[in-house]
Amino acid sequence: MTTQENIIYLDYHSTTPVDSRVAEKVMYYMTTAFDNANSVDHGYGNQAAQAVKQARQKIAELINTSPKEIIFTSGATESINLAIQGHINQQNTPATIIVSPVEHKAVLDTCQALAKKRLAKIIWLNVNQQAQIDLEHLEKVCSGGASGASLLCVMAANNEVGTIYPVQKIGAIAQKYNIPFLCDASQAVGKIPINFQEWSITYLAISGHKLYAPKGVGALVVKKGDYLEPLIYGGGHQEGLRSGTLNVPGIAGLREACQLRRLEMEVDETAIALLRDQLQSLLQAEIPNLLVNGDLNNRLSGNLHISIPDIPNSAIIARVRHQLAISTGAACSSGIVAPSHVLQAMNLGENIIEGALRIGLGKFTTKEEIEKASSVIVSAVNEIHQLL
Ligand code: PLP
Repeated sequence: MTTQENIIYLDYHSTTPVDSRVAEKVMYYMTTAFDNANSVDHGYGNQAAQAVKQARQKIAELINTSPKEIIFTSGATESINLAIQGHINQQNTPATIIVSPVEHKAVLDTCQALAKKRLAKIIWLNVNQQAQIDLEHLEKVCSGGASGASLLCVMAANNEVGTIYPVQKIGAIAQKYNIPFLCDASQAVGKIPINFQEWSITYLAISGHKLYAPKGVGALVVKKGDYLEPLIYGGGHQEGLRSGTLNVPGIAGLREACQLRRLEMEVDETAIALLRDQLQSLLQAEIPNLLVNGDLNNRLSGNLHISIPDIPNSAIIARVRHQLAISTGAACSSGIVAPSHVLQAMNLGENIIEGALRIGLGKFTTKEEIEKASSVIVSAVNEIHQLL
């Protein structure tokens, strides 16, 4: 996808463009069927309520859950906060949370905020250099020191290096020790199959803007019978668990996006993986010391995370940014750029971390863009080499 400024967009992990078929639905529910889904005194509310009901159905079909288990939120960050805080806040004793160190900041910062208030203690899981969870260590942690742990947090797919986690196996371990399991599936839903009901997941976070729906809409799937303390109080919407007038246009967009993903995911992701492999080969042919990070056998099809040791990623970004939208993956908050916590947890060398670049392909990426992207990156590398 090339933007108005002719910059090739290869940052699909950060966000995705809204599919025009999704945008049409969003527009319809903003301008024509603009009703409040909770208005009961006139017919206007019916269409909106119907759209919300259908959205629950379509999301449920994509991830095999019951429509009744779906709560709409503003996105995965809110879903994750609701799951973690809502779960921990209902307990009287300090909680123990088992957390993977390569989770998104939405999980890490929420757990750390609770730890700071002494409401929770964190037990960190071990990950290897591919960002994979050590399942033996997980089992040991669940069965031993942390027996009676309050919550386990492991994502379905990593937003930096694209590693896909064995969610079914992780869920089975959590279930064996009776530990509720939060799975942040923001990068996974609509890209790989997810089975909420059969994989022993207690809470699953979904983000609309990672699957070609708009920003500002998402969902938390909550296992039937589970109780969460609300974070937002108000009109008692969504059975009191998340008050606030429903974002019907966003929810209708999420419905359409989930339906399209269910129908098109397999074909799209196969094509995306082919393009990703092609880009990887083109770069490897021209940059002999190029490293590909992550778990190459279990990787999101749109993910290509590379390091060019001894060339700082900032030097590459400075040279390609007017032609390519790719990312260093580093967190930038309050103007301070910090090295990626994911790459640090993977225990990669400093020069590999400093040379890391995240390239994210999506369903609008073309072969021409991949060829152009490769030549732009290779030229930047050659230019830097000449200066060294
Ligand atoms: N979790 C993961 C793995 C993500 O990649 C993101 C987005 O960057 C989030 C959570 C937060 O999602 P949202 O932007 O919907 O709040």
